[in-house]
Amino acid sequence: MKITIGHLYPDLLNLYGDRGNIQCMKMRLVWRGFEAEVREFNLGDTIDFSDLDIVLLGGGSDREQMLVCEKLQSIREDFEDYVNDGGSVLAVCGGYQLLGHYYDTSKGRMEGLHLADLYTEQGSPRLISNIVLENEDFPYPIVGFENHGGRTYLGRNPVVSGQTGSSEKSWEPGDLRPFGKVLFGHGNNDQDGVEGILYQNIVGTYLHGPLLPKNPHVCDYLLRNALLRKGFSGELEPLDDAEEIEANTIIMRRFVK
Ligand code: GLN
Repeated sequence: MKITIGHLYPDLLNLYGDRGNIQCMKMRLVWRGFEAEVREFNLGDTIDFSDLDIVLLGGGSDREQMLVCEKLQSIREDFEDYVNDGGSVLAVCGGYQLLGHYYDTSKGRMEGLHLADLYTEQGSPRLISNIVLENEDFPYPIVGFENHGGRTYLGRNPVVSGQTGSSEKSWEPGDLRPFGKVLFGHGNNDQDGVEGILYQNIVGTYLHGPLLPKNPHVCDYLLRNALLRKGFSGELEPLDDAEEIEANTIIMRRFVK
């Protein structure tokens, strides 16, 4: 079985080494005996979403996001069909903001893709920090680094599983919900105590840089969803993540307890 990863606009949305996230997805597929292909799309390229299993939209400065956002309007419908068909997406930082309705900056409004019910407003100071998240659906905390001026607000009333003290989930699979509860750091807007989104098979997050190498459990979440959509019915073979798990524990101890 082959998984094709589409990297959108790597020449513009490429802050903090998004290619490392692609490399991580690719290798965790190859190590398990799957085929993996990476296709890069630049601004002038036609994207056939029906060929893709995972789409990566990376981070960018406000200036680069502005250039990309116009182009995104022309692929909006195809992108939406792909998401509604269960296509997997990893959208980081600037890419995450562009999934929403808009991103308001001092230089004007950037129209978003309207794929996820969220919006972003530029604020000050920039929110720069190490960050640790908790989501009880993931076996380990999610660790990373954030650096954003934008404050993102979720349109619906977000529910973080576990936050209410009840083990009952108050969301259905496919609903928009936060990626995690913030244990350390700022998160979406420094107020709500949550970070990012999970929606359909989208992971949207401010955690940039080596998000997936640091969090192989998040990488496998994306891979599993993409493989299931292709008809894979087994369990992902476990890989030796001992070093990653140890690093995760050290970060938890350093920043949380
Ligand atoms: N330009 C956006 C912001 O500052 C996103 C930054 C990023 O992708 N790191 O909020």
